Amino acid sequence: MAPARIIEEVDWTSPLYEPAAYDGPPRNLEHINQLDFDPSLQPKEYHLQGTHPDSIILFLDVEILECTGKLPYRGDVLIKGERFASVGRVEGVEELKKNPKVRVFNGRGRTLIPGLGDAHTHLSWNGGDLDRLGELGVEEHTLLTARSAACYIDSGYTMCFGAAAAKERLDIVIRDAINAGDIPGPRYLANGKEMARRDGELVAGITAFADGPDEMREVIRHHVGLGVDNIKLSMSGEEITEIRSAQDCYFTDEESAACVDEAHKAGKRLCAHARARDSVKMCVRHGIDVIYHASYIDQEGMDMLEEKKVKHIVAPGINWLIATLNDAGAFGYHKEKAEQVGYKKELDHAIRGLREMHRRGIVVLPGGDYGFAWTPHGTYARDLAHFKNLLGFTSHEALIAATYGVAKLFMRSHEMGQLKASNFADCVLVDGRPLEEIEVLQDHDKLNIIVINGRVHKAGRKEYVAPPVAGQDGNSHPIVPDMDFPEVKKDMQKSY
Ligand SMILES: [Zn+2]
Repeated sequence: MAPARIIEEVDWTSPLYEPAAYDGPPRNLEHINQLDFDPSLQPKEYHLQGTHPDSIILFLDVEILECTGKLPYRGDVLIKGERFASVGRVEGVEELKKNPKVRVFNGRGRTLIPGLGDAHTHLSWNGGDLDRLGELGVEEHTLLTARSAACYIDSGYTMCFGAAAAKERLDIVIRDAINAGDIPGPRYLANGKEMARRDGELVAGITAFADGPDEMREVIRHHVGLGVDNIKLSMSGEEITEIRSAQDCYFTDEESAACVDEAHKAGKRLCAHARARDSVKMCVRHGIDVIYHASYIDQEGMDMLEEKKVKHIVAPGINWLIATLNDAGAFGYHKEKAEQVGYKKELDHAIRGLREMHRRGIVVLPGGDYGFAWTPHGTYARDLAHFKNLLGFTSHEALIAATYGVAKLFMRSHEMGQLKASNFADCVLVDGRPLEEIEVLQDHDKLNIIVINGRVHKAGRKEYVAPPVAGQDGNSHPIVPDMDFPEVKKDMQKSY
């Protein structure tokens, strides 16, 4: 008889804890479904202009990854106007192929996925030195913000949740210009400046200061009046500042409660920079909807969050920690320095906490803090690989979080985030198999076709040419001619 093995129960907070490997169906679908933000917090349902109602797009022979939990399967997809008309099986394909008004894309087995989403976006971070962001002139800054918006959609991102802007109206005007069809960009929920106490600032030039409940309420009212969709609180420190520790929380209970009351009264949700243990608890205790980072969550905070998990999402912005440790040296912030101030310790803590959250069904979404020098715009999909490689997500779970999860954060999961008939047609044709190699999403050259709201944002010239091999599609559809749509009456004066 083999000797009895002693199995020690190791807590998730211990560095020795190893969660069990998992390779089954996506577990987070159910948890995302259970999210239940109060209907009074529904963001405005912005409409993206510029899609002709008669537009028809037909994707033939694509590997369909719906992000509904179903495994990928081969089929066709039809888009009519702004929405998917059918997904999987399309009636009358032969007729559609012959119709010169239908734009036909031959998938040849490439994978069609829903447009991606980012839960923590800073369009106005310009890829440089954050400390000098406050010095940028408003005109230059507006152009740079528009450029980031274009970069998101070029990267296959069709939904972004604004997590603070460097100037109070930058996010708002860019959102409105995207919606008006004037500039390319994702669907966007705009934020204002991040609010911090005067003794808790992270970056002075881009912060709205407020001390005490009254002044904080005033800042929120001001931002709501400007037209933001979300409110951002900067509750904890950040090691790179060297004076405000990520383990310190600067907000009081009274202040947090006042902020939630004021924002929720106006129908706006709040998101918070909350690395410290106490800042996470503060978020849960008072109902701050979106918790960013949560690196130093402890057992008590985890239990509190689990109990209220239908009311919160966590977006760790994990790539910032990883890139600050590994990639910041080229910019003069060396690994030894990053480790010395605590980034390694924070990353280890964060990984343990986030794995446990995923295990307990707390919704964790990718995205976050791109737009610093060493987390450049355009590298957003690194998050999905981190979710798979570090946080215990399967590739399928990471993709569901980035699509359906972010749609739920928009409170529009009934019409966004999945490939499903009647949903808005936001999708990306990927030259690869994301479930087998999630890193493929980081390669822009592999994102062959990008569609938002039924409008083609990107498609190389070769996508418009029928297969060159005779007989491959019966030569029934040589070259798609230019669209010939009826005239649309134009506005005399542009006004957002
Ligand atoms: Zn951020």
